[in-house]
Amino acid sequence: MDQLGFDGKVVVITGAGRGLGRSHALQFAQRGALVVVNDVGAGLHGETTTESPADELVKSINQQGGTAIADFSDISQPQSAAALVDRTVKEFGRIDVVVNNAGILLDKSFPKMTNEDVERVMRVHFFGSFYVTQAAWPHMKEQGGGRVVMTTSVAGYLGNFGQANYGSAKAALIGLTRTLAIEGARAGIKVNAIAPGALTRMTENLIGDLASRMDPGFVTPVVVYLSHDSCPVTGEVLIVGGGRVARLLVEQNRGAFFAETMSAEQVAEAWGTITDPTQPLLIADVAAEMGMIVEMNKQGS
Ligand code: NAD
Repeated sequence: MDQLGFDGKVVVITGAGRGLGRSHALQFAQRGALVVVNDVGAGLHGETTTESPADELVKSINQQGGTAIADFSDISQPQSAAALVDRTVKEFGRIDVVVNNAGILLDKSFPKMTNEDVERVMRVHFFGSFYVTQAAWPHMKEQGGGRVVMTTSVAGYLGNFGQANYGSAKAALIGLTRTLAIEGARAGIKVNAIAPGALTRMTENLIGDLASRMDPGFVTPVVVYLSHDSCPVTGEVLIVGGGRVARLLVEQNRGAFFAETMSAEQVAEAWGTITDPTQPLLIADVAAEMGMIVEMNKQGS
């Protein structure tokens, strides 16, 4: 197969100074993209530091013959997110790919979680992705298309102890991904998400024995594929890490159907059918099935 090249393509990656974003930036640069390495240099919990990982990475990309610029915008603020996109277009003339990757953690059990803990995490993960994508959208539309990759998490669709804030923000990104895939279809903008697993400072206390398999290099190839012009996929969530790539499927079971009247007692009685896992139904087929039941009820009455 031909190499998936990015010559002349402009790729913005948020939170790209470290971890997964860094790995993505290096790959895109090696494949010829003009890369904007955005990173505010935050601590793991969003605290301000004196570190400048974006600068260091850009130096190393440019030394290796690639083209990259560093950007220090805090994407959790709408004006800074817009400034990141403005600057990209000013410096490189266009914007083809946005990889929303920046993230922080503020884990606490639910009773201890403050409003501030929720707002800060939502602000970086959800609003940051929203702001950057919204600023890039009109440019992509005008150019006839573009690619957006969101970074969600298993915590977004399964939940995780201590992550009421993070899980909610990551779930919101799945809704955003699926909605923007619908809205972007006519403009040629494809929007997907990854739920990654890799050894970074975010996970170094969790991964343990699996560390040797959990290199970010086992995640980045999926981001690169989803960002390429040739990729037809949109609205999907890919679970990626440790050498496995899988598709998140959303399904319902067939469920129970109630004709005309419905009570809490009937719901309790039908609980076995309502929760029966042996008859799964893909969401896409639910509408058809509901139509069929309405027809059946009409015929029966
Ligand atoms: P990381 O901490 O190594 O990197 C995150 C980067 O985001 C940091 O360099 C940080 O400075 C930057 N950042 C934070 N707030 C920012 C802001 N407001 N503006 C710009 N940059 C900001 O973490 P990572 O593990 O590489 O995580 C990358 C993404 O992947 C995150 O969204 C994370 O939630 C997600 N994720 C990671 C894993 C994993 O296994 N590592 C699992 C699930 C999801």
